[in-house]
Amino acid sequence: MPQLTIALTKGRILKETLPLLSAAGIEPSEDIHTSRKLAFDTNMPNVRLLVLRGSDVPTYVQFGAADMGVSGKDTLMEHGGDGLYSLVDLGIARCKLMTAAIKGTPEKEGRVKVATKFVNIARQFYAEQGRQADIIKLYGAMELAPIMELADEIVDIVDTGNTLRANGLEPRMDIADISSRLIANKASIKMKHSTMQPVIDAIAHAVKALT
Ligand code: AMP
Repeated sequence: MPQLTIALTKGRILKETLPLLSAAGIEPSEDIHTSRKLAFDTNMPNVRLLVLRGSDVPTYVQFGAADMGVSGKDTLMEHGGDGLYSLVDLGIARCKLMTAAIKGTPEKEGRVKVATKFVNIARQFYAEQGRQADIIKLYGAMELAPIMELADEIVDIVDTGNTLRANGLEPRMDIADISSRLIANKASIKMKHSTMQPVIDAIAHAVKALT
């Protein structure tokens, strides 16, 4: 039976992914949360799990280093989805991708400076809005950028809105509803179809049962 490698996104998404995998009959052979390992065998002899930084999951799957993956829709939109199929909406790690600005300030006229780690999404969104935007790439703490006058607005993930509020910001425009997706390498789906399909079906079934 061919080996199946599934790339998981560490952190909050991983916490919500493991119960789904478990309900689908896939159990890591040791505790992923406490181990420092990055690759894990499972109770299924041909299934291996990788634990990666979110933005690397689509890359591993795109190039076939992993056959399948679990990735936030935000990360997939930013990646662009080349070489991937998005198979199942897992309904986990739900949040919104939004613009935000300092509370109570009017919308910036003319060119707007936008700080974000989602530069491709931001570029496309502001273009669609007909607003001229200078996109500034940040790797974290986007919420600080408007206060420090690095940017007029940010594009970021919003869940409860607490992080925005705590930093004097308010949400402005919805860009997309986000949840995590099961993705697959396009070639793997063809070459390993008979091995992958039962795993995909079991995960889809677990989603229906648990969400
Ligand atoms: P909140 O304060 O609840 O609005 O959460 C905001 C922060 O938590 C964001 O800046 C994100 O970094 C992170 N976050 C919340 N939900 C998610 C998610 N589903 N996926 C990735 N990051 C998230």
